[in-house]
Amino acid sequence: MDLGLKGKTAIVCASSKGLGKACAMALAQEGVNLVINGRSPGPLEVTAEEIQKATGVQVTPIACDITSDEGRAAVLDACSTPDILVNNAGGPPPGDFRDWDKEAWHAAIDANMLTPIFLIKSVIDHMIDQRFGRIVNITSSAVKAPISILGLSNGARSGLTGFVAGLARDVVQHNVTINGLLPGPFETDRLSSNIAAAAAKKGISAEDEATSRLTSHPARRFGDPDEFGATCAFLCGDKSGYINGQNILIDGGGFPGTL
Ligand code: NAP
Repeated sequence: MDLGLKGKTAIVCASSKGLGKACAMALAQEGVNLVINGRSPGPLEVTAEEIQKATGVQVTPIACDITSDEGRAAVLDACSTPDILVNNAGGPPPGDFRDWDKEAWHAAIDANMLTPIFLIKSVIDHMIDQRFGRIVNITSSAVKAPISILGLSNGARSGLTGFVAGLARDVVQHNVTINGLLPGPFETDRLSSNIAAAAAKKGISAEDEATSRLTSHPARRFGDPDEFGATCAFLCGDKSGYINGQNILIDGGGFPGTL
């Protein structure tokens, strides 16, 4: 299927690795020129080169913390009028809510709620004017089925989800859509470190923890980031203008509900 994206431009935040990188690669395969981002310049440069070599699109790497005002300004400086915005950032740490002070909450809300909202604010009016825009927020399956040790994530991402639910209904008349992509367990560094932390807490090996998660998952496997990237690219395509304000769970059927 031709997604009608050739020659368009996208900002893909937090995309030197993992799910963000997979979204960037899938968009590049459709001919989208990219601004990609991560805090560490080394891995970011490597990813930029890999995507550029594989697809021939223009890839501009901007090394910065996307959750800071300066970081967002640097990314927007590189591309102030993107056709596509994929919001992403690292997830907040797990823990017990009794240990989280105001600072911990503010950091989570800054990274996983306000950063995407401020980026949307910066780019959406141009999208409306040109009658094309696609915004995808990478959140988490925890928005649908909360994970108690990830309370900071549950809270901050639900705030973002609630806010964009309203905005998405205001802008779709201009062919601008906003959707959430909710990953279940995908094979990334983040998943490996979560598994290692859970294993250490239980006093078992990371392999045993991974096996126990896999045997209790209906798919008996973790997700491949490429599967995630392909869904993101489809949502950004010109055939997806009527998919709006949705929160699409990609978890191999891990969520046990019917709807
Ligand atoms: P990952 O493999 O650890 O990759 C994270 C990427 O984001 C890296 O490129 C990292 O580069 C970049 N990054 C992190 N913080 C950043 C910041 N403040 N500014 C700019 N770039 C930043 O993680 P992932 O698994 O792809 O996860 C992506 C998001 O999905 C996270 O919010 C995570 O919580 C959520 N999620 C993931 C899963 C899963 O199973 N993988 C499940 C549910 C939710 P630098 O470190 O160099 O900055």
